[in-house]
Amino acid sequence: MTSLHRRLRNLFEQAVLDYQMLQKGDRVLVAVSGGADSLTMLTLLSGPKIAVTEDISLVSVCLDLGFDKSAGKGWGRLEEHFQNMECEYVMERSQIGIRAHSQENQKNPCFLCARLRRKRLFELAERTECNKLALGHHKDDIVETFFLNVLFSAEVSTMVPNQEVFAGKYRIIRPLAYIDEFLLKRFAEEYQLPVLPNSCPTQITSRRALVKKLLAQLERQHKGIRDNIFRALGNVKAEYMLTPSLTT
Ligand code: SF4
Repeated sequence: MTSLHRRLRNLFEQAVLDYQMLQKGDRVLVAVSGGADSLTMLTLLSGPKIAVTEDISLVSVCLDLGFDKSAGKGWGRLEEHFQNMECEYVMERSQIGIRAHSQENQKNPCFLCARLRRKRLFELAERTECNKLALGHHKDDIVETFFLNVLFSAEVSTMVPNQEVFAGKYRIIRPLAYIDEFLLKRFAEEYQLPVLPNSCPTQITSRRALVKKLLAQLERQHKGIRDNIFRALGNVKAEYMLTPSLTT
């Protein structure tokens, strides 16, 4: 195990323990988009057995969004990867991305794309009898989502690492919550994970891309800002917030 692997493993275990993400007997649907983040999550979840990953079973799922007709080669490499890991897996081609970019929905493709993807993942969780859905959102995603919610939804909130859904039927877990995106990219390179190209046309024009750019600019000017924002999300001084009924 490399030093980077050990570092990520520690952060992963800490997040899983802090938020009690895994319990014995859990059957976890691991959403693998083909990006460095979700592929690293799969490696960490199925890695050397330690207390938190004992007695759980995993089902990897990759939903192709339908953007890239030439993704065939990468798709094959990903399937080989799942087979080498000896984990149960589902690979499905869909038109979700294309539908989200159709004529009548050009204003906000991400909203429909995320909604349809989430819906399909829960259908697959039902089919494969999983009780948890693991998503590869990392520390940067959590910070960016906070800004997206403030700037575009006028609310102070973000993604939570362990979330109950459908009245407790499932839980969404985010085991990479403590890990920086750049470390996940480095890990994927180090272990030559079969990362698929992201060919979504909205990835560089989305609101998330805008927020990411602004944060990167701030971070260049004041190192540590991103970490401070992340820590601030767990350090809310409720008595210094406004009264909701007076501001809506
Ligand atoms: S950037 Fe593309 S793939 Fe990602 S949510 Fe938006 S539409 Fe979907």
